[in-house]
Amino acid sequence: MDALEILSDLENVFPYFQPIFSADEQLVIAYEVLGRYQSDGTIISLGPFFQDDQIPDEYKFEVDLLLVNQALEKALELDEEISIFFNRNAELLMYGNGEPFLQTLLDFEKKGVNLKRIVLEISDRNYEGDLDQFDHLLQYYRTYGIKVALSSMEKGSNFERIAELEPDILKINLEALKSTATGVNFNDVLFTISLLARKIGATVLFENIEMSYQLQFAWKNGGRYYQGFYLHPPAAEFVPRDFLLYRLKEMFHDFISYEKRKLETVFSTSEKFQTKVHEIVMKNKKLGYEGLFQAIVKEMDQAAFRMYICDEDGFQKSANYFKDKEGWNFQGEYKNKNWSWRPYFLENIIKMRNERKGIMSDLYSDIETGETIRTFSFPMNGREYLFIDISYQYLYEHDQLL
Ligand code: CA
Repeated sequence: MDALEILSDLENVFPYFQPIFSADEQLVIAYEVLGRYQSDGTIISLGPFFQDDQIPDEYKFEVDLLLVNQALEKALELDEEISIFFNRNAELLMYGNGEPFLQTLLDFEKKGVNLKRIVLEISDRNYEGDLDQFDHLLQYYRTYGIKVALSSMEKGSNFERIAELEPDILKINLEALKSTATGVNFNDVLFTISLLARKIGATVLFENIEMSYQLQFAWKNGGRYYQGFYLHPPAAEFVPRDFLLYRLKEMFHDFISYEKRKLETVFSTSEKFQTKVHEIVMKNKKLGYEGLFQAIVKEMDQAAFRMYICDEDGFQKSANYFKDKEGWNFQGEYKNKNWSWRPYFLENIIKMRNERKGIMSDLYSDIETGETIRTFSFPMNGREYLFIDISYQYLYEHDQLL
């Protein structure tokens, strides 16, 4: 792209707007502003222009300021509840110490654009300047009510940056979800980011949603805001706020039914295990751990691949009873190990003790086998807790459990 061609032809520079939808209201809640340039009848993205390191910052700033002005002028048509997202890399944000951009925003505030509606999508990737100054400037902007969105999957923005910047919104790019090469673990990483967002009080926005399963994924993984071609491409004009209301309601209905069916299956399986394990434990409680394990295997060989008993502090009192290709074996080296450090361990002990009932865990990867499994935990009495790990094979054969 020829930067000088664009600079000498600024009347063909204009903003596009891509709507962002919310899960709670199923309405348009914001637009991201994207630069476009029309040349010989074709409209091209100005993304590469802004990312090109060879183009001097003052050129980019000139084009950007034009876009910001045009976008805000057009935003005067919008409902006051609708926010406006601007992309700001560090160079652009720091240009002129951030004053000219802020001045533009303040001019539009006088015309009725509340600065609380402004969201800066920032990127500090490859920034060579002083990050502290950058962070200070952002904090200064925030004193006006301006919000900060951070793209979490971008190279260079790590957990440390997320913690430092405390973004109002975390933008998660679902593009990688398309390729099968990323593997199952990518889902878990995204899910973890949504948990992190919850902890730090940030709202999760999933972007680049291009297919229905990506929307389902976003919905299931704590995404409150959605953006992507599947919902609406960037365009010169705004859409009605309730543009997707009916369709999103319908889709959510399907997601909810599907998820409820799965949860019901997990619940009823847990009840089934509860009845069975309770019965086996009652019948065999005088046999000692080894006898109990063998009695469980007689009835649950299809489901289980590992079992052990801990006390309420997580100290393992039995050996592991573990099934490999040759069959079931005792693994004595696990005795006396402590598992209280594992996530949810103590919460589950307390829950089991108070409810006198077993718990089916969520899906997780077994550290030793790497397989996706669940664990059924069962309170034998106030001191002994039985853990039965359920194999992937069994979950696979009962596919609602996966
Ligand atoms: Ca963006």
